[in-house]
Amino acid sequence: MGGMDNPYGSLDPERGTDDAGIVDRDPEGVTPPPPPLYPEAGTLTTLLRGARRRCPRCGDRDTFASWFAMRIACPRCEWRFEKEQGGYLGAMVLNYVVGIGLWIVVLVVGLVLTVPDVPVLSLTIVSVLVLVLVPLAFYPRSKTIWAAVEYLVLRTDPDYHAPRHRDPRARGLE
Ligand SMILES: [Zn+2]
Repeated sequence: MGGMDNPYGSLDPERGTDDAGIVDRDPEGVTPPPPPLYPEAGTLTTLLRGARRRCPRCGDRDTFASWFAMRIACPRCEWRFEKEQGGYLGAMVLNYVVGIGLWIVVLVVGLVLTVPDVPVLSLTIVSVLVLVLVPLAFYPRSKTIWAAVEYLVLRTDPDYHAPRHRDPRARGLE
């Protein structure tokens, strides 16, 4: 039990609030809010996080319970990955575009290298493999890339509030 005494030590509300403590008592809300818990990344960084299967908001890598089961929300910053029912049509389209795009590349390269003696059977088998395996392999990234796109859109909304140092444990308030 040695090091387990204070698992929330780094989030201790008493720490680091000496300077900003007045903010909480500001009735008009004029003073700027405390700094975000997770600094906002730029558009490119956010999309790259998606391409690396990471949370768009905080960059955490624990976004999937298994290869096909995305978590409902980020375990670290609690960003909800799927904002609404059917919101992943975009991820599906993205997955198809990548799969078909790679298939066209394979097809063109195969034709260019073998013409005029095109091995139709081999090319067909390779085509089927590409069209089946690429979407399976790319599936998690299509989800996190789309989650990054949705996050980029939603964080421009005036109603969007990034988690602040003040309420590090605001679980379930969305
Ligand atoms: Zn996160």
